[in-house]
Parts: sequence; structure tokens; C-alpha cells
Amino acid sequence: MRVFVLGSGSGGNALLVESCGTRVLIEAGLGPKTVAARLAELGLDVAAGELHGIVASHQHGDHFGHADKLAAAFSAPLYLHPGIPGIEAAEGLDVRRYDIGRALRVGALTLTTVQVPHDAAQVAVRVDDGTHALGVATDVGRVTPGLVALLGECDAALVEANHCSEMLAFSEYPDVVKRRIAGGWGHLSNDQTAELAARLVGSRLARLWLGHLSRSNNTPARALETVASRARRIDVDVLPASSPVALHVRAIKPHQLGLPF
Ligand SMILES: [Zn+2]
Ligand SMILES: [Zn+2]
Repeated sequence: MRVFVLGSGSGGNALLVESCGTRVLIEAGLGPKTVAARLAELGLDVAAGELHGIVASHQHGDHFGHADKLAAAFSAPLYLHPGIPGIEAAEGLDVRRYDIGRALRVGALTLTTVQVPHDAAQVAVRVDDGTHALGVATDVGRVTPGLVALLGECDAALVEANHCSEMLAFSEYPDVVKRRIAGGWGHLSNDQTAELAARLVGSRLARLWLGHLSRSNNTPARALETVASRARRIDVDVLPASSPVALHVRAIKPHQLGLPF
């Protein structure tokens, strides 16, 4: 399973998952031109009809703002859960509804979702090709047992480490915005993501990619240090802020085999 992360953060989210001949775009927060350009940077050329589905986690613009244009440009079905307002009316779009918590089959891939707290109806997503599984969980207000269970059944996951609580507290953001981000319906702090990682120790999860970092209220070094300190036997990396990156999802925990990686 290959994962092409094209953007992660408030500037726009999109990642393409490819396995067994199926390609699914998770999140639709970048326009078709940007998606095509960033895929090309990673050596991937996806023509219309070669993308088998677009799945957005929630209706916020950085995840859903370009959904209609992407679906049109790539002639791809748009899979929406009931908490995302309808764009069915848009002409020529293939919009398909699915229920949160029920398996959704897209080609060779099975997608499972679990609702997570956020100030819009929001899901964490698990993508499974029968051998490998990837989790995606950003825009999470607080850690829930359902989220831990979903990620614990993945080999690798892209999870947000949005902000450093101290940096946010001392930032120039208005208090109402600070409360929104730090409250239980906003975003995970580095400490919360570290707590999540600690709860995943001993599960199937072997790799954690940290994303959706705040540009003003976090640094890659802080996020990495905080989360890695609690993520025993889980490899932790921070996704690059501004360049696309191609990742591989592998099934085996090297540490468990005692191999010298
Ligand atoms: Zn977001
Ligand atoms: Zn959001």
C-alpha cells in the first residue's frame, strides 16, 4: 500500500492511497490542479477515470472545499457520510452516501469509519487492502475508545499533532479561537496525541506520521519529541509541512522481530 500525502494542515488536506490497482483520495481540501501537480512531483500521473473514489472526513473547507471540482476533474465518485451536507444537486456528480461505522468497499479497498469529536460531524478513516491497513485521524477534539480501537487495527496511521498547548496559550489568537482549538471539539494537542500513542503501544500499529500541525502554534521538533516519548516501539515521524511525500504502509513491526532497523 502506497500513500501520497499531498497536503496536511489548515492550508488543505489530501492524500491518495493506492493498493491492488485501486486509488482513493482521502480528503478534498486541495484543488484539481494542485492535486495533479503534487502527484506529478511524486511521479504519479492520474488521469480522469483512474481515481476510484474521493472520501472526505468532514465538511470543513480544508478537507472538503474542493470536493465537487475534484470529483468532476477526475470523474470519480464522491463518497459522503450523512454528516456532510449534500452537494447531490451539482450536475454530473456521482455522489454516493455511506453510513459511519459500516464498511465501505471501493475497488480492492475496504474503508471503515468511526465518529470522532470535532465541531463538525467528523470521522477517522481506516483503509484496508486485505494485507495492510492505514488510519487517518485529523481534526480530533479528544481521544475516544473508538478512535483507539480503529487505529490499533492499522499498521500505520496519519494522526494530527495540531498544537503545543503552551504555544497556543501564549499565542495572539483571540480567546474564543484558543478555546475552540483546545476544547474537546477542536484539535489534538501534542500531549493528547502522545497520550493516544501511549494507548496504542502493544497494538498492531507500527508507524505514526504526525500531520495537520499548526504553523503558528507548533513546531515539528516539539510534536515529534512529545509524541515519540510516549510511543514505545512505534516509529514516529512528522510529515513535511509544505512538500508532498510518498509513504509505504508495511505490515510487520521490525522491533518485534528483533531486526536491526
Ligand atoms: Zn482540518
Ligand atoms: Zn475541521
